[in-house]
Amino acid sequence: MPDTSSPMTSPAAQLKLVGGIPCLDFVNTVGSRVPSRDAAIRRGESLGLEIVDEKLSTYDDLLSWSRHAGLLPDTVVRRLLAGARHSPRESAAVLKRAVAFREVLHRIFIDLLHGRSPSRADTDLLNREISIARSHQRLSAATQGYAWMWDTDAALDNMLWVVADSAARLVTSANLPRLRQCAGHRCGWLFVDSTRNGSRHWCDMKDCGNAAKVRRFRQRARANKKS
Ligand SMILES: [Zn+2]
Repeated sequence: MPDTSSPMTSPAAQLKLVGGIPCLDFVNTVGSRVPSRDAAIRRGESLGLEIVDEKLSTYDDLLSWSRHAGLLPDTVVRRLLAGARHSPRESAAVLKRAVAFREVLHRIFIDLLHGRSPSRADTDLLNREISIARSHQRLSAATQGYAWMWDTDAALDNMLWVVADSAARLVTSANLPRLRQCAGHRCGWLFVDSTRNGSRHWCDMKDCGNAAKVRRFRQRARANKKS
C-alpha cells in the first residue's frame, strides 16, 4: 500500500507528551506495552512485553512526531521530508534504527527503574547512538560563554541525536530516581516525576488515573453485590 501519511496526519503527531523529556516521550511512541500472551515473547529479550498500537510505522511518522515533540523546527522537518522522498531506502533504515534504539532505551530505563544493571549489548547501543549525536554537536559562541549547537545540515537521523543526548543526560542525572512507569492498567508509559513530593502515579490523570478510579469503583460494586 502506498504511504500516504504526512507529518500533518500521522497518529504520532497526536501523542500526549507526558514524559517530561524527549527520550521518555520517544519511548512512549506506542499505544501501550502489555504482558504478552505469546510464550516466546515472554521468554525473549523484550521483558515479556508486547507493543499495542505502534505509532512509528513509517519514517514520516518519526518525522511527524519529532516536530510534534519540538525536537526539530519546521524548516528542518520540511527538508527531511523532501530528503526522505529522494532516499526511501535510507529513511527506512533510519526508522528501523530509531525503533531498535527506542526499544533498547525502554529496556535500559526499565532495568534502571528496578535497580538492575542494563545489559552490555544495550549499553553498547546507547553509547553508539550517543557518539553519533556527539559528532554532530559544536560549541558556538553565545552571549555568555558558549552553547552546544547541532549541525545544521539536515540529516535523516537528526531527531535521534536529540533523543540520544536526552537519554545521556537522564541516565547520568541526579533526577534518575524520579523516573517512573505509569501505574495504569495496560499502559507502560514512562515519565519523570517532577512533583515536589514524588507522588505522581499516572502518565495522565485524565486517562490512566481516571480509568483506575473507574476500575476501583467497579471492583467495589462487584464486591458489594457478592456480600
Ligand atoms: Zn498511563
